[in-house]
Amino acid sequence: MCGIVGGVSGLEIAPILIEGLRRLEYRGYDSAGVAIIGESGGLDVRKAVGKVQQLADLVEEKPMPGTLGISHTRWATHGVPSTANAHPHVSGNIAFVHNGIIENYKELKESLTAKGYEFVSETDTETIAHLIHSIYKDSGDLFESLKTAIGQLKGAYGLSVLCTDKPDELLGARSGSPLVIGLGIDEN
Ligand code: GLU
Repeated sequence: MCGIVGGVSGLEIAPILIEGLRRLEYRGYDSAGVAIIGESGGLDVRKAVGKVQQLADLVEEKPMPGTLGISHTRWATHGVPSTANAHPHVSGNIAFVHNGIIENYKELKESLTAKGYEFVSETDTETIAHLIHSIYKDSGDLFESLKTAIGQLKGAYGLSVLCTDKPDELLGARSGSPLVIGLGIDEN
């Protein structure tokens, strides 16, 4: 279980998220990633195995303009450390990060596979991304979809989700893990 930083700001969010991940490095991790709602309104995602610096290098090579995003350092519990398994995980226009373990992910994965969702990672986390999407695509209400999805989860987690339809909404939830919300001036 490692770390998550999300933010919405009047400033470019990628450098703020990467600085946040650096502050969590002491916790240990094997890979890192960031997802942002880009200037064109689409999802922009970068992931790297290894150090936060490798992610920072990727972002420097190919900048990620945007003011709302989520980021993650992973300590693999389900699947090897790899770019495919690194977070954020994407389902449709939703990006999702999670720390912790979902004990009932296999049952959820079976039912989502039956609904046509394709899995590109070995993680328990990707299941939650698709679960939220499967509810959101019918309801259009991200907050209620997240609440319904977490009602189906067994395990400990801290998580955060964003959706390109909601360029000013950043959602988080926790169970058994801490979550801190900082309210700032033009920046949360
Ligand atoms: N269980 C998730 C995974 O293996 C999250 C691990 C973590 O807490 O970083 O990707």
